[in-house]
Parts: sequence; structure tokens; C-alpha cells
Amino acid sequence: MPINYDDNIYEVTRDRERCIDCRVCERQCANLVHAYSSELGRMTSDSMSCVDCQRCVSLCPARALKIIKNPNVYRDNANWNDAAIKSVYKQAGSGGVLLSSMGTPEPYPVYWDRILVNASQVTNPSIDPLREPMETRVALGVKPQNAERNGRGELINTLRNPMVLSVPIMFSAMSYGSISYNAHKSLAAAAEKLGIFYNTGEGGLHKDFYRYGKNTIVQVASGRFGVFKEYLDAGAAIEIKMGQGAKPGIGGHLPGEKIVEDVSRTRMIPMGTDAISPAPHHDIYSIEDLRQLVFSLKEAVNYSKPVIVKIAAVHNVAAIASGIARSGADVIAIDGFRGGTGAAPTRIRDNVGIPIELALACVDERLRGEGIRNEVSLVVGGSIRNSADVVKAIALGADAVYVATGALLALGCHLCRSCHLGKCNWGIATQNPELVKRLNPEVGSERLVNLVTAWKHEIEEMMGGMGINSIEALKGNRLMLRGIGLNRKELDILGVKHAGE
Ligand code: SF4
Ligand code: SF4
Repeated sequence: MPINYDDNIYEVTRDRERCIDCRVCERQCANLVHAYSSELGRMTSDSMSCVDCQRCVSLCPARALKIIKNPNVYRDNANWNDAAIKSVYKQAGSGGVLLSSMGTPEPYPVYWDRILVNASQVTNPSIDPLREPMETRVALGVKPQNAERNGRGELINTLRNPMVLSVPIMFSAMSYGSISYNAHKSLAAAAEKLGIFYNTGEGGLHKDFYRYGKNTIVQVASGRFGVFKEYLDAGAAIEIKMGQGAKPGIGGHLPGEKIVEDVSRTRMIPMGTDAISPAPHHDIYSIEDLRQLVFSLKEAVNYSKPVIVKIAAVHNVAAIASGIARSGADVIAIDGFRGGTGAAPTRIRDNVGIPIELALACVDERLRGEGIRNEVSLVVGGSIRNSADVVKAIALGADAVYVATGALLALGCHLCRSCHLGKCNWGIATQNPELVKRLNPEVGSERLVNLVTAWKHEIEEMMGGMGINSIEALKGNRLMLRGIGLNRKELDILGVKHAGE
């Protein structure tokens, strides 16, 4: 029986001078933290139920609420900190696996923050993106080894079913069921407006969203939920999910209470039953098996769509990617261990896998060394937080990035890490109709379009500053990067020099 990891550590404080007892906070909180006491003639709070989603704080008209970290601490102990002690108490009391959501909050190194980007000065002049054309479009899929030209000297396009993106950013897999209908609609509509792709995750594709097919990646995961011919035909690309950064090596589990009528129809499973996807695909135990699935899916759609294989960043990721590049896949998506999730065992989320920066650098290096980098595109995700992370990822060797947590933040998520409870007060990670309608998909998609458009401008500015006018020219251009505060081994793996070198 899984148990919630992140609770009982927040204290709701209400400024009695300011509070006007309007009861907005009571109506907004699905965790029943706030209540009006007619006996006391005022509002009261139950801090034990607070998950710190900040909904009440944001909507209180009197700015009367604050949520603070509970100042109560056990005696200082560098080895047994509060969290370590509390988790022992919880597990001793319940015998359950600790469950969390979103990406790990543990203080592992974020290599994006230890890499700096170059800029032109005097020689190799910079480019003004307001006056000069900048090419942010990318095409994902197999690239030709050599450029071919026709009799008139024009380039011949030999790309095979490429995925063309206006900017090298996609919304990564989040299933309908783990997130709401309105969250999915926001992502789908934004992807269409932006000319990029969003991803169904392993939950199937709701009938209403078939109209966004040309901007949709349909996922095939080990549970095969909602997978059938029409579904494969509906998307622009098919993704085989072998692993996920937040929980490498284990399957997925969506509790029965989230399998409401619509989700059950979309996933093709009975209402109210737990949706459990097994850890392995039961038909894949080798690269040869993977190759069979890649080609089965291609055949199912008449070889008209690219196939992506998504893996978690793990210790031998370079060797795994080298095998996948030979499996017939068009794109490899790698998810780093800081990536988000709707629910994962806490110990797995916080201890298994490797950072995406190191995984990307070693995979790109390996594929180049083997002369097969053009056979496959690389998409990376797992804590891409801003446009600078995108630029660094491209310069380290990625063709494009996947963004999920950043997209949810744009929709209103406040990173309370309680998605697994199904009571998201922002209408995102919930199937409760009253909560779902709090997220307006028109507003949501507009906010996502704003976010990606802002990042696009910043990417153009950074590229211009380097004297580079296309994503293709930035790709794998590690000379544009310098490490800061990294040791020799880390610099070697990243393939970058230290600042000052
Ligand atoms: S929303 Fe603010 S003003 Fe209204 S009852 Fe709650 S704390 Fe008081
Ligand atoms: S999606 Fe909702 S429940 Fe999940 S972290 Fe964000 S605000 Fe919290």
C-alpha cells in the first residue's frame, strides 16, 4: 500500500486583522484545510492536510494567508535529518512504499547551472536577431550523410517523414488520466498554434483530440492502454516508451479513482480499476525485439510516420542508445533523472538514474564516434527550465528538448508535488470535474504559446550573440560552452573546456 511522502510539514498562518471571513479559501481547497467555525464565528485551518499548493494564498482577496514550513525540528543531526526520521516513522506505521510526484527535490548537481554560453566580441561578429533572419526550425528523423543537389544546383530534400518543429521544443508525455482533460486540451491547442508537438503519454488519445493529430505524438507503453490502429493513425509520430527518468526500471500505476468514465473509455480499461503498466514490455528483451516493435508500428501506419524510442537516463545509456540507433527508430528521447512524474516511489525518484546533461553528452559522443549520429535524432528532457537550458542542450548535442514541468507551471502548477493524490487545486493533475474546470484551456494554451514564444526570442538572442544563425549550426557545437566549478572528469564527460581555457 503506497503512502504519501510529502505531508504534515506546512503550517497555514492566517492574519486575523486582514481576514474578512469571505470563505474563498474554504471553497478553493480540495484538501479541506480551511473551514468556517460558526461556534467561533471565524475561519479555522487544519495545517495537517495542507500540501502547500498555494491556491488559497493566490486567491485570498485580503492577502491574509501565508504557508510556512513548520518550524518544529528534531535535534540537529547531519546524518538523520527530519525527513529521514519521519519517513521511518511513516513506514513503520504503515508498511507501505513512500509515494511522491514531480521531479526529485534532492540537491543533486544541476549541470545546466555549471555551464556558461559563449558570445562574440570583436571577431566573428554577433548577429542581430531583430534585423537578420534566424532559423529556429528543426527536422527530426534520419538525416542523409551527404547533401544532394539537382541539375539546377538546388538541394534535394531526402528526409524520410521528418517531424518539423518551428522551434526545438516539444511538450513531453503526460497521460490523460494523470492530467486533466483541460490540461491536455491546453497542450494540444498550444502545440498546434506553435507548430510543435505534444505527447499523449501512455493514456491513449481522447476522441476530442484527434483533430490535433498532426501535432500529436502517440505513445505506446508497456500497458498498451488505448493503443489500436486508429490511435496510431491519428498521430504524427509514434513513441515507444521504454523508460521514464523519474522512475527508471519500474512501470506505472494510475489509481482506480482517477479512471473515471472518459479516462476508462480512452484507455480501454474498466472504470475504477487501477491502470498498472508493467516494468518491461513483455515482448522486448533485446534490441532485436525492440526492432521488431519499431517495424511492426511502422508497418501498421504504412511507413508514413517516424518512431521515437524513449528511455530513461541510466548508467549505460550510451550503449543502449547505440543499439536503439540501429533498431530502425528515427528519434531517441532520453529522460533525465530530475524529470517529473504523476506518481513514483520516492526512493526510486530520488536515487535511480543519472542527470540528463551527462547522459546527452555521452550518447552524442558515442553515436558520433560510431558514425551513426545522422541515423537518429536526439530529444532530451528531465528538468529543462528555461531557454538557456535549451541552448545548452542543443550545443551539447540534442536536436530538440522535451518540456513537461515547465509547461505545467505555465498552466498554473505550483509544484506542490501532490499530483498522486488526485486533488490538484489548479485543475491539472486531477479528474475531479469541479477542479478540472478551474483550468480554462483557452487561457492555458495562450500561456503555453506565450512561454514558448518568449523562449524562442531568447534562444534567437543567445544564438545571435554567438554569431550563429541556425539551430543546426548550434547543434553539438560544444566550443560554445564552458564549464564552471566542474572537475576534470565531469568536463571530460560533458566534452567542454573549463571557463578560462
Ligand atoms: S480567502 Fe482570505 S480573506 Fe477569505 S476567508 Fe480565506 S483567509 Fe480570510
Ligand atoms: S500539477 Fe497540481 S498537484 Fe501536481 S504539483 Fe502541480 S499544483 Fe501540485
